[in-house]
Amino acid sequence: MKIEVHLERLKQPDAEARLKSTRLAVLAPGSVEQHGPHLPLGTDAFAAMSIAEAVAQRLNTVLVPLPLIGVSPYHQSWPGSLSLQAQTFIAVIEDVCDCIARHSADKLLFVNWHEGNSPALRLAGDSVQRKFNVRVVIAESHLITNKLFGERAQLTHAGNMETAAVMMYDPSLVDVRKADNPSSQADADAMHAVFREKDVFPILRDFHEVAPTGWYGKPEEATLELAQQIREKVSEYIAERAQIEFGRNSRLPE
Ligand SMILES: [Zn+2]
Repeated sequence: MKIEVHLERLKQPDAEARLKSTRLAVLAPGSVEQHGPHLPLGTDAFAAMSIAEAVAQRLNTVLVPLPLIGVSPYHQSWPGSLSLQAQTFIAVIEDVCDCIARHSADKLLFVNWHEGNSPALRLAGDSVQRKFNVRVVIAESHLITNKLFGERAQLTHAGNMETAAVMMYDPSLVDVRKADNPSSQADADAMHAVFREKDVFPILRDFHEVAPTGWYGKPEEATLELAQQIREKVSEYIAERAQIEFGRNSRLPE
């Protein structure tokens, strides 16, 4: 049987014991933003939470709750999409980590799915590490999923990978029959690549710049089997890599 890891569902003495024995906590920042007519607004939050839950089970520790909302200013032209300012997102993470660090955790593992969170999450991680004398490790679970599953899990928006990601959380939230009017995958891939360049790149203002209809990809390719494989393999990968990173000698001066 899988152990309960959601901190808010545990009794206090059990949470305390888990934190003291592992000194580790898993956190999954979310995002609430449009994912086309066939996936829920909470797609990225549900994806991160589902994988993070499996990671916390593998590491026998707790999954600490964070707001479902992340940093998604460029989806605001689709009503219902929500965003925190990067400063707010960072402040919330700092406050939560302050508590957890006082409760014995000195290893904090962030399992993120939403690309828009990444710059702010790095800043938050750096700040938390300096303020609370902890080690922070970030796992970008969408990139890991694409790396492990390739064409079956493309880095589109609301395509096969994200449809499978929602299926691993709750298949009843997916309705592929409603997946009409995708943007051209060739055009959207090309534009997404421009904003994902590592050397010279513009800042994304509005997701219309990538996909005029809000989404692109192949949701019809997602299956429950793929969803289960993603949860299994990606959580295994993250748990193993995180243990290596937390175990490194810091080589800091005495
Ligand atoms: Zn997404």
